This record gives sequence, structure tokens and C-alpha cells, in this order.
Amino acid sequence: MFQLLLPAACQWAEEQEAIILREGVALTTSQMEDARRIGIAHPEKVRLRVVEEIPLPTHPLLRQAAEATNLISPLTAGLTLRYGIFIQAESWGERRLVVHELAHTAQYERLGGFRPFLELYLRESVTPPGYPYGPLEQEAKRIERELCAPNRTHGSNSLGVIVPYKYEGMWVFDDPAVGLMREPFVSGIDTMLEKLVASIPDADKGFRLIFSATPFPGYTVKLEWRREEYGGNWYFSPQFEMEGWLCPALFKYFDAAPRELYGRAEPKS
Ligand SMILES: [Zn+2]
Repeated sequence: MFQLLLPAACQWAEEQEAIILREGVALTTSQMEDARRIGIAHPEKVRLRVVEEIPLPTHPLLRQAAEATNLISPLTAGLTLRYGIFIQAESWGERRLVVHELAHTAQYERLGGFRPFLELYLRESVTPPGYPYGPLEQEAKRIERELCAPNRTHGSNSLGVIVPYKYEGMWVFDDPAVGLMREPFVSGIDTMLEKLVASIPDADKGFRLIFSATPFPGYTVKLEWRREEYGGNWYFSPQFEMEGWLCPALFKYFDAAPRELYGRAEPKS
């Protein structure tokens, strides 16, 4: 059965790719960056095609198989046929989805085209526990999670925001998106925060702290990296003439300790 369906699946996939390549749009600059980070060799070949519903194969057996495995349903938001990617209209513009589908494009390239990819992917989808628990699908989900972690600062010039507040006399902040709860600022950073919020009324109840690894308009504090210690990193503030230690929670926002950090404190609203 599987051997019978595979050639039909390959043929359908190739036809759909041709349609998408003809009618779709090229990746935007930021999507192109994502494609390169995922390791796609030819991101310039990729096209995205918006559709009201992901098309089902017309071949009756193939159609049945696609539905039975849940690979294509009315709820499917995206489908990748090598360099051609269908995106369901309501999900158009969702970075997470595009990243996920691009991860599949990288798999097509790595495995060597339609037949080797579809053979493996479909086999994983029909072998218990089936879709979406196969290694290829799980890899795409992992890449999607890693690249699109909420609040993670992408690239060197993007901004992060947290809202520190006082709890039991300590400056702490919550960021449920990265699993942080009452994460404290200690060892000098707390003193710097005091100075930074001196002119912000009710800062104790929470203020907005914008940060980035590169200068941004309106930044008011700059930290220079000094050294690593206890898994965290010491930074020096020229304006406060003091050092402060940032705990390993820094890596929830940056892949490596930035050489410099820029920040700005603002009232919450
Ligand atoms: Zn997938």
C-alpha cells in the first residue's frame, strides 16, 4: 500500500510545488534571515502561497491517506512541498508557522528531494505513534521553538523588555514566557537599578526596562562586559563607576553574554 502511494504522493507534491513557485511570493528579508539560520541552502528558491484551505490531493487513495493520517485537514495551517509552501490565509504573517515550514524545506534539501523526504516523512506519519510524533516533524517543532522563543532578542539589534518591581525589598522580575518568576537582581545590578529609577515615581510597583546588545535611541545606561563568574557575568557601568553581576537568566535573552548592554528605564504606563 505504502509503496503504491509514494509515487502518487511524489507526483502530487511536485505538481503543487510548481503551482506555488509560479503563483507564490518570495521570502521577505527577515524570513530570508530565518531561512539561513535554519540552514536552507537555497532560500531564494522558496515561495509562499496563501490559500483559503490547504488543497487535498485528487487521487482518491492519496486523499484518503492524507485525511486518515491527519496530515492535511481543514485545520492545517501550512504545508511544505520542497521550495513551495502553502500558508492558510488566517495564519499568513505568522513567523512561527513560516519557520516551521522552512524547517521542512531544509529537510527536503538535506535528504535529497521529494522522494527521499516524502518516503521518510510519510513512513513516520503512518508508523505509530504517527503524525506529529515522527522525528522529522519533531525536529521542525524544535527549530520553531528555538527560533521563536517569546521575548528572545533576535539578532544583535533587537530590543527586549522586562518589568522589574520590588518584592520583599529586592528588585525582581517575572517573565513567564521564558520560565522566570521573581528573578532577582543582585550584586550591584540592584544598586544600579535604584539609581536608574530615581526619577520614576512608584518604580517599586514596576517600571519598564528596555534592553539591547546594541545602542538604541534614548538609552540611558551602558554596561561593558568584564568577566564570567559562577555561570553569570560581571558588567561595568562607566556612569555609575561600579560593577554588577548578571545571573545566567541572561541566556534566556541572549545566546552568549553580549560585549555591551544598553538599557533605558521608563514608567510602566
Ligand atoms: Zn510540520
